[in-house]
Amino acid sequence: MDILKTLYDEIIGFLGIGNAWDILQTGDYSVLATYEGITAFILPLIPLLVLLEFILGLVYKKPDTKVYKVNFLIYVFNRFVGRFIAIAMVVLLIGWLQPYAPFQTSATWYWFIYIVWEFGHFLYHYWGHKVRLFWCLHSTHHAPENMNLSVTYAHFFLEAPYADIIRTTVCILAGVEPAMLFAIMFIDGTYGAFIHVGENMIKDARFGAVGKFILTPSHHRVHHAKNPLYIDTNFCNLLNIWDHVFGTYQEENREEKIQYGITRKMDSGNFMDVYFGEFVALAKDVWNAPGLKNKILYIFMPPGWSHTGEHQTAKVVRDEYLKKQTA
Ligand SMILES: [Zn+2]
Ligand SMILES: [Zn+2]
Repeated sequence: MDILKTLYDEIIGFLGIGNAWDILQTGDYSVLATYEGITAFILPLIPLLVLLEFILGLVYKKPDTKVYKVNFLIYVFNRFVGRFIAIAMVVLLIGWLQPYAPFQTSATWYWFIYIVWEFGHFLYHYWGHKVRLFWCLHSTHHAPENMNLSVTYAHFFLEAPYADIIRTTVCILAGVEPAMLFAIMFIDGTYGAFIHVGENMIKDARFGAVGKFILTPSHHRVHHAKNPLYIDTNFCNLLNIWDHVFGTYQEENREEKIQYGITRKMDSGNFMDVYFGEFVALAKDVWNAPGLKNKILYIFMPPGWSHTGEHQTAKVVRDEYLKKQTA
């Protein structure tokens, strides 16, 4: 019976409906105006959408089985390790860095705070693609060859602490209040999950003029594509301001059908390959590289960098493609 109880608690935990259920049972709806009350009802949205999308997949007979299987395994694995490390890192960093902020903002500076947060997110995500070691942490998220909401759960367990170190450092040094930081993390996390909605649920996710100001699921589909035109673009999460500033903005082009996944030959249905494959590839390159300098460069240069000078980085691939298009 204990196993059944644990399973029941895990399912309720995954769905995030525990708090909402408690509120409904007490009948005291005044808490809905509080942070706890709001989060209690927003938290279950993504898990419920994941289920709905999964059912739609079955109805349309396009269930993306491979993606769901591996992402489920990743969810279970991370459930036990990743989350706790990330929370501990954020709390530690706030304590260390807050005294060094030149000024403190108040909770009324929403837009300034959000732009600062988005900058922290851009940095973490950009380096996750441009520094080979960090790509090892981030590549698990890019392995799925179809897009659906379960991709939200596909992360290497050390990616969240790596991301939170950078985002928290940027925000706390810019004077963002810790309470505000946690509120943004929640909003951004929920929206960041939603942008993985798949074609089974929303076919055209460009959202018209709205897409000029905010990052849509369409933008994020482009980010998950390995097509030369799309590779390493759209690093933002909710406001695409920093992609415009740094020249990494790319819209979905109807003529260029998205191919999801990463360029390395891999088995996206194999948990070990999805989770550790990039580490193995990096270790091989480091081992085979001549001289200490090349070995170190492999760890910190972008994926595709080669000591022979024949680089196949995203930048080389994309520039070559764009040159051919204009020629
Ligand atoms: Zn990415
Ligand atoms: Zn993603």
